Amino acid sequence: MQLTDDSQHYDLVVIGAGPAGTSAAIRAAELGARVAVVEASRTGGTCVNTGCVPTRVLAKTARIVREVRLAHEYGIAISAPEVQWDATVTRVRATVDKVRSLKDEAGRFAASGVELILEGRARFVDANTLTLDSGKQITAESMIIAVGGHSRRLPMLLARMRSRSCSLSPPRWLPASTFPLSPE
Ligand SMILES: Cc1cc2nc3c(=O)[nH]c(=O)nc-3n(C[C@H](O)[C@H](O)[C@H](O)COP(=O)(O)OP(=O)(O)OC[C@H]3O[C@@H](n4cnc5c(N)ncnc54)[C@H](O)[C@@H]3O)c2cc1C
Repeated sequence: MQLTDDSQHYDLVVIGAGPAGTSAAIRAAELGARVAVVEASRTGGTCVNTGCVPTRVLAKTARIVREVRLAHEYGIAISAPEVQWDATVTRVRATVDKVRSLKDEAGRFAASGVELILEGRARFVDANTLTLDSGKQITAESMIIAVGGHSRRLPMLLARMRSRSCSLSPPRWLPASTFPLSPE
């Protein structure tokens, strides 16, 4: 273990402030541990920032488009819907912000005595030492790795994507997920 000053030594450091890391850190603090959470991006993790919450807004957008397109089958005369992508993105961001402020992970960490460290990605120096993007080093008796999962890019798909031009224009389709969560 590399030496750091006592203020940066914890009983437990949790890497990642998604739902898993947040629960683990708060529970450990409730049990009396001195705990820090290291988050490279935004508290709330994938679910709030880029997963469940934004996809629910997009899924609702898709459902409304479909309903409007089918309205004539029920005797409702209505012109074809046009998705105004900027407004949709604004709605996605507003909903994410609303859920973030309701969940208030930073406030819950503070109330539980968990130190939240937002200084970039954590990397292991050894089993008890982390170095952060900021250059800071912290040590702990135990670490919990709660960094979520990532999809693997398959080489053949990458090659196919490279052969096509990329565009930032709105997608021609919107996801319709079967997940139960529904903030919209
Ligand atoms: C598009 C999409 C839609 C989804 N919809 C749903 C849904 O409707 N319902 C549902 O139950 N689940 C849904 N999920 C799954 C859900 O988001 C995950 O199950 C959940 O977020 C996992 O939580 P976690 O805490 O394990 O990881 P994450 O939420 O991924 O959190 C990991 C955190 O670790 C941080 N991190 C990573 N590496 C480091 C590092 N080296 N140093 C510091 N920090 C680091 C990341 O920035 C991130 O904040 C969805 C996922 C996706 C992608």
